[in-house]
Amino acid sequence: VLRIEHLSKNFGSHIVLRDIDFSVRSGEVVCIIGASGSGKSTMLRCINHLETPTSGEITYEGKAVGGVHFDLSQYRAKVGMVFQSFNLFNNMTVLQNCMAGPVHVLHKKKAEAKQDALFYLKKVGMAPYINARPSQLSGGQKQRVAIARALAMHPKMLLFDEPTSALDPQMVGEVLAVMRQLAKEGMTIVVVTHEMQFAREVSNRTVFMCDGVIAESGTPEQIFEHPQNPKTQQFLSRFQ
Ligand code: ATP
Ligand code: MG
Repeated sequence: VLRIEHLSKNFGSHIVLRDIDFSVRSGEVVCIIGASGSGKSTMLRCINHLETPTSGEITYEGKAVGGVHFDLSQYRAKVGMVFQSFNLFNNMTVLQNCMAGPVHVLHKKKAEAKQDALFYLKKVGMAPYINARPSQLSGGQKQRVAIARALAMHPKMLLFDEPTSALDPQMVGEVLAVMRQLAKEGMTIVVVTHEMQFAREVSNRTVFMCDGVIAESGTPEQIFEHPQNPKTQQFLSRFQ
């Protein structure tokens, strides 16, 4: 579904991504791991076109992401993104947060958008909070609303950038549980995470990034039990 070829990204003279090839098939759950500064967020941001690649090609269903006549808001509905910092609209209620995209981007009728939003808020266990403001919620609750908001766009794929790393430990589990459920239901997921246990148990493929390249990728068994690259071994030894 998603194909990245020869992706490079520089910020000035700083080379952050070097000639990356990476693709995601429908239904795959890919976890991206790697040290701070290795370029994980930059790669996700390039996929979502929050950053423009310096060179290389990103195609989604055969269309060049960010090319001429490319409809970015429709693309971002299909390829949703959930951020570490939630990025909810603080001036709206939980329900309004989940209705805004469907109404304004997908041009749904309000009543239909509301039914849909309620469905997904229920799914993530946030139905009791529909009239709350984001400021009244815990981190884990905010993140579950952010996931419901992305789901309300009926995405084909979800990108998660360290969705649990801003959370208190007791709230990490509730967000991972929602993600596990989505994976089980067949959602195509790419997640940057420091949750090694999650990567191990839930991903079909684990990708280790180091200094702007994909240093190693394979099944979670290959990466966690039998890493071949010394850099992967060194990185993972910190989590033993
Ligand atoms: P972390 O695990 O800390 O989130 P990461 O792997 O996500 O790290 P990136 O955020 O992709 O790393 O950053 C990779 C490098 O690119 C870093 O050295 C960072 O300072 C640099 N960088 C990222 N965004 C920008 C930007 N907008 N301008 C300049 N440099 C940037
Ligand atoms: Mg990052």
